[in-house]
Amino acid sequence: MLPDLATLRLCSMLSSIAFAAMFFAFWAVGRRQSFLLHWAASSALYALVLELFARIAPHSVLMPLIFGLLAATDVLIMTGVRSFHRSLYDRGYEMGVMAVALIVPMLAVFHPLTNLLPVGLAPDLALAGLATSKALVGSCLSFARGKDMLLGQRFAGIAMLGYVPTYIIAAVAGHYGLGHLHLAAVLPMLADQLLLAALNIALMAMPAERATAKLRDKALRDPLTGVRNRAWLEHYRGERSEVDAAVILVDIDHFKRINDHFGHAAGDKVLTNFATRANEVLEAERGVLARLGGDEFIAIVPDADVQRAARIAEDLLNSMRVWSPGVPMATASLGVAVPNAGDDLSGVMARADRNLYNAKAAGRGRVAVD
Ligand code: GH3
Ligand code: MG
Repeated sequence: MLPDLATLRLCSMLSSIAFAAMFFAFWAVGRRQSFLLHWAASSALYALVLELFARIAPHSVLMPLIFGLLAATDVLIMTGVRSFHRSLYDRGYEMGVMAVALIVPMLAVFHPLTNLLPVGLAPDLALAGLATSKALVGSCLSFARGKDMLLGQRFAGIAMLGYVPTYIIAAVAGHYGLGHLHLAAVLPMLADQLLLAALNIALMAMPAERATAKLRDKALRDPLTGVRNRAWLEHYRGERSEVDAAVILVDIDHFKRINDHFGHAAGDKVLTNFATRANEVLEAERGVLARLGGDEFIAIVPDADVQRAARIAEDLLNSMRVWSPGVPMATASLGVAVPNAGDDLSGVMARADRNLYNAKAAGRGRVAVD
């Protein structure tokens, strides 16, 4: 037995109101996350549209307006997502998608146009208009690219796309009189019970997902220099039993003396200055830099043979020879090692450390290789 339309509509309205209240309450706490207001408005508007659908006759001249409002609920989700990403997602084509998603369902129930259709096709066109709108916004959300793309956004887009087959089945069932006609009307509302919750919970997850990613990034970075830290290195080490990258260990020379002569703050500047310069060198080589602690750093360069690794180490050393205003000059000793077959990171680091010791012993300010 199929549930009746009025009950399903009531259920959708109640959960939409609950989601609107929740988004609004979360926004009210800090009043800074304005994307929550977009999503609160979307849910509230959806509850209103469902009420209007119940009250207004199917052939009313107000239908384009109601369809426009229904499409606006999805567009508000998208404007919220854009606001969530701030200007990062400020792309022209997204504006186009939103405009088309808003206009198509309105045109699909615009009587002067639908009257031109053969009799019986008007309801199909209305459903096709809604399906097009959902498909556009849903795919724009779920297939967006970018390094801060979140699972929550993808799931929200997929939930929107989930409506599309229900509209198509409803149109086919309605058009060909397949099954019970009631099914055609009830199916999208039935799917709504699942998809509405999935969509809003996915949106709700987005801020938490971003906060977790930020915290994780913070936990794996050294607060002074901004480069990766020892915790990151442990994570890197744990992820691979074999290593295929060259290791360059760096230790600033006579750093204690720099601290004693110029003060701790000047010593900090030496560290941050080195990290900035080294990052520039390593970026071009697809390498990464981590601070092991104190004045000791490690550079990891993938797929580098011993010549290339030694050349990069020289570049790191040379980068310190350029004077920066307000930063004491310093040199460093560097130990280089590349992996032998089957080596793990600890093995390569141990050899690089021996070479670093040799560089210190040979007079500092130099690179030592195996
Ligand atoms: P060497 O040439 O043999 O490396 O001599 P060194 O003086 O550099 O000796 P060492 O590497 O043992 O000295 C590290 C010093 O770094 C000791 C510590 O006071 C200082 N240090 C550790 N962390 C920081 C920091 O965050 N900022 C500053 N300014 N100094 C730090
Ligand atoms: Mg040192």
